[in-house]
Amino acid sequence: MTEEVIDVIEISNGSAKLSRELLDSCIHCGLCLPACPTYLATGREMESPRGRIYLLSKWQEEGGELAPRAIEHLESCLGCLGCQTACPSGVKYEAILDQARPHLAARRNWLTRQIMRFGFSQILPNYGRLKILGFLLRLVQTLKLDSFVAKLPWIAHGPPIFRKVADFQMFTPTVVKHLPLPKKSWKAGAKIGSAKLFSGCVMDIFYNHVNHAALRLMVRQGTVVEVPAQTCCGALAFHAGELDIATALAKQNIDLFAQSDDHIVVTSAGCGAMLKHYEQLLAADPVYKEQARSFSQRVQDLSENLALGNFPDMTGTSQSHMVYHAACHLAHAQGVRVQPQDLLSTVAASTGAHLYDLPEAEHCCGSAGIYNLLNTSLSLKVLDRKMNFIEESGADVVVTSNPGCLLQLEAGVKARGLNVKVKHLAEALDDAFAN
Ligand code: SF4
Ligand code: SF4
Repeated sequence: MTEEVIDVIEISNGSAKLSRELLDSCIHCGLCLPACPTYLATGREMESPRGRIYLLSKWQEEGGELAPRAIEHLESCLGCLGCQTACPSGVKYEAILDQARPHLAARRNWLTRQIMRFGFSQILPNYGRLKILGFLLRLVQTLKLDSFVAKLPWIAHGPPIFRKVADFQMFTPTVVKHLPLPKKSWKAGAKIGSAKLFSGCVMDIFYNHVNHAALRLMVRQGTVVEVPAQTCCGALAFHAGELDIATALAKQNIDLFAQSDDHIVVTSAGCGAMLKHYEQLLAADPVYKEQARSFSQRVQDLSENLALGNFPDMTGTSQSHMVYHAACHLAHAQGVRVQPQDLLSTVAASTGAHLYDLPEAEHCCGSAGIYNLLNTSLSLKVLDRKMNFIEESGADVVVTSNPGCLLQLEAGVKARGLNVKVKHLAEALDDAFAN
């Protein structure tokens, strides 16, 4: 087996070094521009990958402080990696972004940064606190307090900080009753293998039913599934440039999953991409380097795991018109493209449902972690383009694989009043057995 070259995130004074070599690999051809959702939404060069690489390159050459305008252009990057897929010169945009993000974090408003750090380190990794949060949100939604507050004139037309309440309401999915996942699940009879389920934090609170569907599907194929103790993958902290928090969470997960060699199956594309990225994150760590490498190699998206088996007993019937929206963190970050499509083709062939191609299926929907809350206006522009394609397709079911995409597309469907159901791939597959 050939040794794969890993881009090491070099840390100096708490921040990552920008690599001249990576920045110079861009030949400014512009072929990535049509793949960049923020460029398509604004038409501005500085909102494109080429523009952002130019800004970082200039800053690296000249030194000094990053100009506020440059920070805005860099912060408005979705991190979707559509440009990396499109680039014919093999520019490693993800590695450039990994190095730039801690610098952006260091220049963030102090209060905003502390609030974000508190959420990444004290809420997301603490399952008990998350469950309380989920319960309170459910209560607020049941009493319709969220829509009442969001419509108050001094909130809807008040200062930006108040309007965030309305944004939060728009992007919060309906929280359903949380049912704990069984620690171990299996089906009597033939055992084809065993796996560990990574249930995620946001995923399991907002989309707990998706994890249950994933468990049922894996067990149906004869896999013995365990849900071990785990913590937040650290993706939101990492994407916000808070490397210390992301690194600490990565080490905890590596330790928690160290007892077995089983595949670690993930239902959230964002978590999966992060878990596979531990290898790069800890490549310079003398203690965790090797463990991180073998951990990342064990990680599978749910679709990769299910594609190894089959579903001969899929007997439901459906008239649905489905389209598939490929989550950026699945298609671009993990390179998983074929398996979800194949699994949906199986659903279509077995149930009578129709599967259509969605134009720009691999373009970001504008969710990008907490981007929709931080850059709401641009996020909605990006979503608008996605929703135009969905509406034109005539689909009544949109399938995707990431909690961020689910809530973003649900917000788009709600805003347009469409009769479209947004489903996780696990739900689309599980439903094919339910009729
Ligand atoms: S990132 Fe790639 S495609 Fe985009 S301008 Fe640079 S070399 Fe061209
Ligand atoms: S990561 Fe996405 S938003 Fe950022 S420059 Fe690349 S294509 Fe554009």
